[in-house]
Amino acid sequence: MNTSDILTILPPWYFLVAAGIFGAMWGSFANVVIVRWPRELSVVRPASHCFSCKTPIKWFDNIPVLSYFILRGKCRHCGATFSFRYAGVELALGLLSVGVAQVTLLQSGSFEVGLASYFIWFGFVWSLVTIALIDMEHYLIPDAIVLPGIIVGILANTFILPMGWMESTIATVVSYAAIRLLFIDGYRLLTGRPGMGAGDAKLLAMFGAFLGYEGVLFALFAGALQGTIIGVVMVIARRRDGDLNEPVFEEELEEDEDYEPDERFGKARVPFGPFLSLGALEYVFIGDYLLHKYALAFGHFVYNIQNLF
Ligand SMILES: [Zn+2]
Repeated sequence: MNTSDILTILPPWYFLVAAGIFGAMWGSFANVVIVRWPRELSVVRPASHCFSCKTPIKWFDNIPVLSYFILRGKCRHCGATFSFRYAGVELALGLLSVGVAQVTLLQSGSFEVGLASYFIWFGFVWSLVTIALIDMEHYLIPDAIVLPGIIVGILANTFILPMGWMESTIATVVSYAAIRLLFIDGYRLLTGRPGMGAGDAKLLAMFGAFLGYEGVLFALFAGALQGTIIGVVMVIARRRDGDLNEPVFEEELEEDEDYEPDERFGKARVPFGPFLSLGALEYVFIGDYLLHKYALAFGHFVYNIQNLF
């Protein structure tokens, strides 16, 4: 028996349940990184503890998703309330992991290749969620995730994924250079302030390493479109509250810069990283489908135009 038979012997739900548990556990780790990394605390020590009474959380109270509901979101010792965000991140990464297993492992003829692509794509999705939540709170995209991510993306495309090292490498370099030139340095030259942050450029370079040109363009446009929609909703909501300030897309701070919360007082600060990450996530799961539909619609359009003459 060779290992590929595993996929035919065991039922699909077995792999999906395993992927869900694995994803939720990495969701737990994402929570630790999101809380501790921007505050320059170790992500390894100390073990998880209650933020209020500092009591270490026992392993049986630290089960992803379930413990939150068993304890009703409260500390067993002092009753302090935990944010639902913790369980939400674990649940989201559990479900995303199931989705990744479905489109990699269960579609693959070879167990080894399927499993390797599962780990690569789940790692990418994990980093998107973690980066989005850190950026939302701190206006910061950590180099510590993005730079190793670029290396993993290029290596994965060199040895395992079908795109190959050349497109991966060129898309990484070109994305970074193009964003710097057009949206950072060029934009600053024209308007006096950068239109995007250096963190956004590095994030798009990471998308290039994993997804190639098509994925970078998709994430950029899908992210900008959805960011604009949310921005417009925010303007309307703020007008209704009598506040006339427009939301501004916040340029990312460099990691050594200090965060000054009142730097643009009264403006709604909108980080761009979460929207770019959302765009990349959509590309991973439905990019092919959307691009295919778009190509079809465009084909019909061209056909109809031709029929007019
Ligand atoms: Zn407590």
